[in-house]
Amino acid sequence: MDNAAVHPILKEVASVFTRAGKQVYLVGGAVRDLLLGKEAKDWDLATDARPEEVIALFRRVIPTGIKHGTVTVRYKSNSLEVTTFRTESTYSDGRRPDQVNYAATIEEDLSRRDLTMNAIALSLPSGTTVDPFKGIEDIQNRRIRCVGNPEERFGEDGLRPLRALRFASQLNFTVDEATLAAIPGALSTTVRVSPERIRDELDKIISSDRPSIALLLMEKTGLLELILPELASCRGVEQKGFHRFDVLDHSLLACDYAARLNASREVRMASLFHDIGKPTVCRIDESGVRTFYQHEQVSADLARRIALRLRYPNALTERLVHLIREHMFHYEESWTDAAVRRFIIRVGEENLKDIYALRQADAFATAGIEGEPGFLAPLVSRVDAILAESRALSLKDLAVSGADLISAGVPKGPRLGIILKELLETVLDDPELNTREKLLEIAGNLNRRYTSP
Ligand code: ATP
Ligand code: MG
Repeated sequence: MDNAAVHPILKEVASVFTRAGKQVYLVGGAVRDLLLGKEAKDWDLATDARPEEVIALFRRVIPTGIKHGTVTVRYKSNSLEVTTFRTESTYSDGRRPDQVNYAATIEEDLSRRDLTMNAIALSLPSGTTVDPFKGIEDIQNRRIRCVGNPEERFGEDGLRPLRALRFASQLNFTVDEATLAAIPGALSTTVRVSPERIRDELDKIISSDRPSIALLLMEKTGLLELILPELASCRGVEQKGFHRFDVLDHSLLACDYAARLNASREVRMASLFHDIGKPTVCRIDESGVRTFYQHEQVSADLARRIALRLRYPNALTERLVHLIREHMFHYEESWTDAAVRRFIIRVGEENLKDIYALRQADAFATAGIEGEPGFLAPLVSRVDAILAESRALSLKDLAVSGADLISAGVPKGPRLGIILKELLETVLDDPELNTREKLLEIAGNLNRRYTSP
């Protein structure tokens, strides 16, 4: 590669190594991204210097992964991960290398890497490439291929098959035949990979522009059945009416559409999982029509199970489950303002954009053609109008607080909560009543009703 393409910061850092008589290379995703003409997200360097030597060379070094030979160099507000050349020999648990052995050469270091496109090094500061596995050719052919023997490489680390498919989604590359064919035989190794590592790859798939590329390859190779069996069992579950696709293809289309909308991770996941309850609740009624009663609740429960299994953070899980549970909303022009306010409360003001996006994705994936549900635009404008008036929408918006009610004689305890909720219902029906005076009067009446025998 042209020396001019090497970032000035990398040249400066490299000169520190070369002055000390050490080799240093840019490796991993940064080289791949450079060759693809993309800006690198982060810089990984490989060197023959030992971690303690790197620590001695720079002023600010954080011993981030010293057990694995990695330190982080902070240089002029940049972070660089510097790892000593190494080989990784045995992975007896299929998760992590048992031990790290340092290697003598960059070629040896590259040979432990997963895919040819991730096994190219850029010598610094010159910019000369070291490419023993023809990774550059594979990048040019948009091909994902294992370094060396795919069965062996997948057998060493069961995450690699999922990484290969993740890159297929992120880069829209094809997976080499031999590499793809080695995946089914590696499933018994993938089972042992920690849920956190699986989750991080799944996240990258879901965050890509075309999640369905990896998900379909996962189905083909058995990874989907292994990691997301709930989704795999949506294959062949047909839906009638406006639906053109089975539940799995519908879910994949919805997820791709959410990606096209550049929606949040929660919306993308909700799009993928919003119908996973359908295989469970599918019934055929007297006239031979398939029904899926309460599928949103069952889908939400299954999504929670998946999120727990893959150790997703609680806050994300709760939002995901909520979006799926509420995804079947409807709207008609005849709704009163109170009904629109109840809709806003049920969904939550902070979730409105997400639930609209989910519904758009669901609608797109029903027929596979552009066009949101007809009721969405009128509902959005009703909601916006009501939010603009910003009238009472939650307990905290009431003109009285719990403390006010207590001073007015309502006893502390469950009754206080009941009365506050009734006041909220009252105000939802008639926002004019949201004044301190009126609400205290109503609360007094309610309180007497509860006290009188
Ligand atoms: P990105 O950071 O864009 O997701 P990346 O290729 O940089 O992609 P990282 O997980 O940051 O991926 O790993 C950096 C490099 O380490 C990879 O390019 C690859 O050379 C090597 N690598 C990462 N994970 C593995 C693995 N499981 N097996 C073998 N080599 C790996
Ligand atoms: Mg990286």
